[in-house]
Amino acid sequence: NEDHFKKVVSHAKEYGYVFASSEIYDGLSAVYDYAQNGVELKNNIRNYWWRSMVHMHQNIVGIDAAILMHPTTWKASGHVDAFTDPLIDNKDSKKRYRADVLIEDYAEKLEQKAQKEIKKAKKRFGDAFDETQFVSTHPRVVRYREEQKEILGRMAKSLAAEDLKDVKTLIEELGIACPETGSKNWTEVRQFNLMFGTKLGASAEHATDLYLRPETAQGIFVNFLNVQKTGRMKIPFGIAQTGKAFRNEIVARQFIFRMREFEQMEMQFFVRPGEELKWYEYWKETRLKWHLSLGMGEENYRFHDHEKLAHYANAAADIEFNFPFGFKELEGIHSRTDFDLKAHEEYSGKKLQFFDPELNKNYVPYVVETSIGLDRMFLAVLSNALEEEELEDGKTRTVLKIPAILAPTKAAILPLVKKDGLPEIAEKIIEDLQWDYNVVYDEKDAVGRRYRRQDAAGTPFCITIDHQTKEDNTVTIRDRDSMEQERIDISEISEKLKKSVSF
Ligand code: ATP
Repeated sequence: NEDHFKKVVSHAKEYGYVFASSEIYDGLSAVYDYAQNGVELKNNIRNYWWRSMVHMHQNIVGIDAAILMHPTTWKASGHVDAFTDPLIDNKDSKKRYRADVLIEDYAEKLEQKAQKEIKKAKKRFGDAFDETQFVSTHPRVVRYREEQKEILGRMAKSLAAEDLKDVKTLIEELGIACPETGSKNWTEVRQFNLMFGTKLGASAEHATDLYLRPETAQGIFVNFLNVQKTGRMKIPFGIAQTGKAFRNEIVARQFIFRMREFEQMEMQFFVRPGEELKWYEYWKETRLKWHLSLGMGEENYRFHDHEKLAHYANAAADIEFNFPFGFKELEGIHSRTDFDLKAHEEYSGKKLQFFDPELNKNYVPYVVETSIGLDRMFLAVLSNALEEEELEDGKTRTVLKIPAILAPTKAAILPLVKKDGLPEIAEKIIEDLQWDYNVVYDEKDAVGRRYRRQDAAGTPFCITIDHQTKEDNTVTIRDRDSMEQERIDISEISEKLKKSVSF
């Protein structure tokens, strides 16, 4: 809910995860900086993805292509002509919106109404409640769902047919008002290209127009044959990449969910024509398993299969996550056919084909892609982790239950007091651990307050050195989630951490 979302945003700043970009100049809309803890979490998510996609698959390799590419790339890919969002302005408030998002928000409200009815009935009927039966028979719920489907279906159809007039008509028929002012005085709907342009070259007349890449995928397509040949790759094989992408988003809101500069983690999997749907199903399952392996709750994920397909796709689904503002796209899995490679063949005049020794023929491979936003994944982790927990003594504690393998800092090393040789022992422990783990030292304030600070920062373990340590070389190790403490030998710390935080 909204309240939780606000807490996530302010917590992200207070605990050094995310800052607004150039904040001293009042920030730049939809651009953010990752702070001292944020950069660690982001690196860990990226590494976890890279390991499981590249290192754990013998037929997937990685590349790191440049952000700037030859401008014809974007002509071939269709982005110059078709990478657009439908834009609408409100004449009174002068505010600008994405027409499709206005309509989707309207549909989402209908869904919320349906959910309310379901919740009410659940309460009323208790254990006897049969949800499937209820949603298919309750008149209001059926109506809300049908209306939703009709609206979204009509919008998809209009957009696919480039019938922007009908998109406006739909907005008017539904009586959608400007969310800020309530005005219903709308302009026409028009297409807006999301690519950021820039220039290469020193003198104005000889400069070449370039684009900042709006997706990392094209860097993979244009390198397809280089990688296949030099890596002696056989189909099926994949190429993975992580890196920045840029989109001049019309509506910038929801914190790091929709940014103008963001990072993608993409993998293009090249397959035999005709086998793409089998691999599409394989990657849908495999990617969902990756998400579930983090233990953020099975109920927080769902697939959304696309009815309206992009010009290049023959099947597409999103993995949606339960963000504080509802289920929204976190990752896309797309069967992109041979659209991209064929287009690059055509525009470059170079063959981009694979000789399949088993079939004894050349072909342009088909592509199944998995594409996840690193920043969206970051937001999923952070919003899922933040909890205000009621304790037995009636107090509450703020805790960030980030999966230990992703946590920015793995352990805080705390001398109970700042004297009696305890800080020196702490330093020695840090010298050993820092080779393998990101750990921090903290000696300020009472140890209870230090625990709370580490809980809120998301550190899975606190290791405390006390006077007994001097006698028997043992320390206490405290678990962030259970708050349980255990006494272990100093020599056992590293093994103990390894079990929980390594991947
Ligand atoms: P949306 O419908 O939310 O605009 P999309 O369908 O355009 O997203 P894709 O082009 O499929 O997104 O990009 C793949 C992934 O990149 C998305 O699933 C999302 O996680 C991420 N992504 C896309 N746009 C942004 C953005 N502006 N900010 C942050 N992440 C983004």
